[in-house]
Amino acid sequence: NKITIAIDGFSSTGKSTVAKQLAKHLGYVYVDTGAMYRAVTFYAMEHGLISDDDFNIEALVYQLPNIEVSFKFNKTLGFAEVYLNGINIEKEIRTLNVSSFVSKVAAVSQVRHKLVEQQQKLGKDKGVVMDGRDIGTVVFPDAELKLFMTASAEKRAIRRYKELIDRGDEVNYEDVLQNVQERDHIDTTRKDSPLKKAKDAIEIDNSDLSLKEQFDKILELVNM
Ligand code: C5P
Repeated sequence: NKITIAIDGFSSTGKSTVAKQLAKHLGYVYVDTGAMYRAVTFYAMEHGLISDDDFNIEALVYQLPNIEVSFKFNKTLGFAEVYLNGINIEKEIRTLNVSSFVSKVAAVSQVRHKLVEQQQKLGKDKGVVMDGRDIGTVVFPDAELKLFMTASAEKRAIRRYKELIDRGDEVNYEDVLQNVQERDHIDTTRKDSPLKKAKDAIEIDNSDLSLKEQFDKILELVNM
């Protein structure tokens, strides 16, 4: 019997790595909801709606019907890449620039409403692993398995830093750490913060777990 697996937690806690592993192992669909918020953020940047000192929320809300986010499975990569109005933007959404604006865009209720509705459609047939901030609380409150991933801010910054360097981006560790902390702050202190641990979620602190240890632990939960 296929189930719904909701994986929530702070940024760079390795949610997507484990979600991809699980989806592959179980033959499930993986949905990266952070990529959807990043795609809308990229749209806002491309259309001059957001910059360091300005965010035209009304214009973004007005243009929401023109923003179509979709996924297409890439056989070579083994996961679905994100598209904005038919264009592959998987690489564009991973920049530090998008990361620094995304929490502001994700705080707009109309944006959340649109994306949550789409996420619920994507997961309606079960057999899905979805990762994000509010999957176990808002998107799929009835998910059979809910995980809440945590790790220290420093461990998470090191991981994100390595990812960015591997992509060839020129970043320094201090900026990455600052970005991780800023996003944690915005994501947790907002009045209607998306990041809450569901009552029935199982917390996994992977600061000191290898990928294999973490995967084995989670697979055990899936098979329970
Ligand atoms: O998971 P990722 O780091 O790519 O998510 C980027 C940002 O999108 C988060 O920092 C958060 O502000 C927002 N987000 C959200 N709700 C989700 C997924 C992501 O608000 N379900």
